[in-house]
Amino acid sequence: MLQPREADAVQLCAYVMLAEKNGWRISGGSIYYAETKQIVEVDCSDTLRETVRRTIQEVRSAIARPMPEPLYGDVRCLYCSLYPVCLPEESLFWKRQKKLSGTLRPPVCEEPGDEVLVIQSPDVYLARRGESLVATRKGKPVSTHPIHRIRSIHLFGGAQFSTQVLQLCLEHHLNLSFFSPAGKYLGRLDTLSISGLDSRHGQYRYAENPSLALPIIRSMIAGKIQNQRTILLRNSRNRSDSVVDELQCLRKKVLHAENRENLLGLEGRAAALYFASFPDVLKQQFFSERFTGRNRRPPRDPVNAMLSLGYSVLSSEISGVCASLGLDPSCGLLHVPRFGRAALALDLMEEFRPLIVDSVVISLINRNEVSPNDFVEASTGCGLLRSGHRAFWNAYVRRMNEEVSHPVFHYRLSYRRMLEIQAAQLWRIFRGDGNRYFPMTTR
Ligand code: SF4
Repeated sequence: MLQPREADAVQLCAYVMLAEKNGWRISGGSIYYAETKQIVEVDCSDTLRETVRRTIQEVRSAIARPMPEPLYGDVRCLYCSLYPVCLPEESLFWKRQKKLSGTLRPPVCEEPGDEVLVIQSPDVYLARRGESLVATRKGKPVSTHPIHRIRSIHLFGGAQFSTQVLQLCLEHHLNLSFFSPAGKYLGRLDTLSISGLDSRHGQYRYAENPSLALPIIRSMIAGKIQNQRTILLRNSRNRSDSVVDELQCLRKKVLHAENRENLLGLEGRAAALYFASFPDVLKQQFFSERFTGRNRRPPRDPVNAMLSLGYSVLSSEISGVCASLGLDPSCGLLHVPRFGRAALALDLMEEFRPLIVDSVVISLINRNEVSPNDFVEASTGCGLLRSGHRAFWNAYVRRMNEEVSHPVFHYRLSYRRMLEIQAAQLWRIFRGDGNRYFPMTTR
């Protein structure tokens, strides 16, 4: 007599036991093997039932255990679809900080897509049609977006959408963020995260212990100052060597800062120097003359309006990345947790501010993609008009998709993917797999 495969028999017996628990009376079961066209009877004996109970127990205890370490240097990783999320080789480096042998293959994700959906008009309605989102205006379709192509959705002001859209976004783990009409980040739709509580416990431990947090925030701020220096070196027309030299000196001092207050003082000095030189990198006189330093809430000139919008959008993206890894975006190491503040996202954003947002603003102005007519200025502050928003989003998405070389692993990936790699590094540190943070820097 033909015997069923053990795993199949256990599965069928589990179904039978489940049905019995719900009041059904089942005398036996059979399995049809489509390939060989054979029907095999399964006897749900006491021994098989015991195996089912034991298997369920084993699965439960496996789920309760902390996530296992990645397989280091294992050939199975080459064919694993989880490779871009698991990052086994990178994790080994972060843990042991051993010199890498050879070049790592870039952990490129197939999913999700690269489309960023930005809705700013209050008269646009977003609805679900099957596995696509359809934007309509006054009942007429404006555009259709297959869900697998979308990476994130940003809703500004009073754009409308249905509950089905929310469910679809949750099913596909899409980052859906909400902003005020002026661009203030309000919050995001939260989905289930991939990891358990272990990383979050570690994060709170680091946040409560300044001696653990200090080396990490030192590296983040040193990375930010290095990137600010690079931006000035690349773009300044009348470069002052004393400024770039002082930034270099501040970067070194940051690496030896004794405490958080000392670190914030050095970071503030670097920011003041950097933004004092910022007009020098802008080629349109209108913008460089109006910018007299960083101001916000509300921004008082067009450059600050673009910087504020960019930092807002970037922090929402990083919040989404942190939350998807199981980290708490509101519990930071450098930025003090406060109501409505994504403190961890702000920490992680430090090294990316010059590389992404400042760079987008410089490119918008220097390529003449924005003009004074794209802004509105009032006694309450300065904001972008619809044409300015459109130009900003084009440049922002272009920058996020631009590839850059990783300073440690040397492979090229988009800035968007680099955010995920850096967040994964922090996640590993919080889980106890490493204690040194390597910031994202460019030359
Ligand atoms: S990539 Fe990660 S999940 Fe996949 S086989 Fe390797 S260690 Fe396991």
